[in-house]
Amino acid sequence: MAEQEFYTLEFGKIEYMTNSSFYAQYDVPQDLQFKTSDIVRMGGLVCSTQLRPSNLEGVLEKPNEITQAEVSLTFSVATHEILLRGKISGTRRIECARCLTTAQQPFCEEFVETYSTKTEIIDIMSLVRQTLALTDDIRFLCNTQCKGLCPHCGKNLNEGSCNCKPENLSPFAVLKGKFK
Ligand SMILES: [Zn+2]
Ligand SMILES: [Zn+2]
Repeated sequence: MAEQEFYTLEFGKIEYMTNSSFYAQYDVPQDLQFKTSDIVRMGGLVCSTQLRPSNLEGVLEKPNEITQAEVSLTFSVATHEILLRGKISGTRRIECARCLTTAQQPFCEEFVETYSTKTEIIDIMSLVRQTLALTDDIRFLCNTQCKGLCPHCGKNLNEGSCNCKPENLSPFAVLKGKFK
């Protein structure tokens, strides 16, 4: 099979025939461990796949969580190197640092990486997990005006005020308790 005839490939100026039947026959590995020899043999690869939630477990710090994600990858082959350009997009569930309500939030991250053609396995899964871990906001707020929870009774103050005495609502009320 003269598969190289399907592609025009130049490093830095890449043209692909993405509707090639050769790509269509390629099964994207669900664990995203690509064999370098496969990619070299095909002269490059353009593919995308939906990730299983089990693949994304523990990427974000709980209770934040990736709920859905799709990865698109473009591998370009040069003499000694494979250039990878990737994109991961999807939705994540994230908790407000003040009032603890959760919200669904879309995300989209791009990454570029090069690999030696001597690498045996190109491990996209750990790259994807690393990229997503970096998006874990340390402090996410549902709204910059979020009033948070009453430190005394725990009521969500965005939904209305509570009946606690004003002294309990002072920010120092919490500190007082800590330094007893
Ligand atoms: Zn909030
Ligand atoms: Zn209260």
